[in-house]
Amino acid sequence: MRRIMVSIHMEIAIIGCGIGGLAAGALLAGAGHDITVFEKFEQPEPVGSGLVVQPVGLAVLETIGAAEYALSKGQKIIHMQGQEVKSGHNVLDVSYGTRFGLAIHRASLFEALYHAAIGAGVKVITSTEITNTELSSNKRLVNGIGFDLVIDASGAGSVLSAMPRKPLQFGALWATVNWPETSLPIDYLSQKYRAAKNMIGVLPVGSLPNETGAKATIFWSLPQNEFEAWRKQPLEDWKSEASNLWPEMAPFLDQITKHDNMTTAFYSHGTLKKPFSKRLVHIGDSAHAASPQLGQGANMALLDAQALARALAQFPLQTALQKYARSRLRHVRAYQLMSAVFTPMYQSNSRLLPFLRNRFFAPLTRIPPAPRVLTKLVCGDMIKPIRGFK
Ligand SMILES: Cc1cc2nc3c(=O)[nH]c(=O)nc-3n(C[C@H](O)[C@H](O)[C@H](O)COP(=O)(O)OP(=O)(O)OC[C@H]3O[C@@H](n4cnc5c(N)ncnc54)[C@H](O)[C@@H]3O)c2cc1C
Repeated sequence: MRRIMVSIHMEIAIIGCGIGGLAAGALLAGAGHDITVFEKFEQPEPVGSGLVVQPVGLAVLETIGAAEYALSKGQKIIHMQGQEVKSGHNVLDVSYGTRFGLAIHRASLFEALYHAAIGAGVKVITSTEITNTELSSNKRLVNGIGFDLVIDASGAGSVLSAMPRKPLQFGALWATVNWPETSLPIDYLSQKYRAAKNMIGVLPVGSLPNETGAKATIFWSLPQNEFEAWRKQPLEDWKSEASNLWPEMAPFLDQITKHDNMTTAFYSHGTLKKPFSKRLVHIGDSAHAASPQLGQGANMALLDAQALARALAQFPLQTALQKYARSRLRHVRAYQLMSAVFTPMYQSNSRLLPFLRNRFFAPLTRIPPAPRVLTKLVCGDMIKPIRGFK
């Protein structure tokens, strides 16, 4: 099809003031569309602790003018390393090469995106939970208001998306603490494992908005059906278990004084086969949810936003939605597949999978060209992220 530059002004509603919603809002408002974001919370606020924005995601932040603030708050990560404690096997050993991942607290990433979106002219309506949208002649209604297009960016729990979701067996406990005096490198994601049953990790995340002190996100994985038992167990018992597993964790764990300091996170896996219908399109976790094992969810949401904005700039509306879906298909499917394959090696009750990981998979990853492939895998561009158009 001949490519045309489409500059028709549209009224667009975005459901969800999260990573994908704000990025899409900033890009589309920047392209001259009229953008209204609906968010269910009273104060749009980030959920959870830290995450890694990979190079492909950082490029999107640059496009919307959010990278400078994000870089000033986040912590550059040059390596990911993980060791099985009992056997001493190095089972995660990935360098970013000449690039880096930007580990950042969600509050700082939110701040970067929110200011970019507001600066581009996005309107945000809070305390408004959207549970359905209806077609009415040539508009789609949100809260009784007609829009040319509705973008569902309401995350993994989206009620607007028919995505089938499979809850994952393992979740995690998270907390953000001060970066203490420690021998751990501040530019590494460091993890330790006991088989695949326990994973404990430290992610340096830079500083919070309006603060300067360096922080770390710490996490401890466990099966979802053991969260209750963890909560009933004395906190000191768990802290000694974790410190015995990994003595360098002690100064991080010293800052945890009650169970409530740790936030629980549950994950699901699912892919929406067709992420669009008439005047409705799904981006981010509402179109594809996965475990955070590969650290790609935020990047996927940012890339979706960029692909959608580019498609809408070049094609008429319904064609643009098809083009958006096609442009992201291979990248999304490939990362979903890899996430489904790798996650049980690091988070499961299996004895066989961690054995195979330690003895076969990890040694293989050290033989060229595997290290280079792994670098591209974590950077997010092992497969072209947006295909078919620029
Ligand atoms: C513990 C954890 C660690 C992670 N680590 C990483 C990592 O290292 N790297 C990475 O790339 N990704 C990571 N992820 C995944 C990443 O956070 C998600 O993939 C990303 O936030 C998805 O963005 P989104 O815009 O689709 O949804 P979200 O960022 O979840 O935003 C959805 C928004 O929609 C709002 N909303 C929901 N329902 C409604 C409604 N009905 N009406 C109005 N508003 C609504 C919500 O309040 C929220 O503000 C992690 C996820 C978790 C849980």
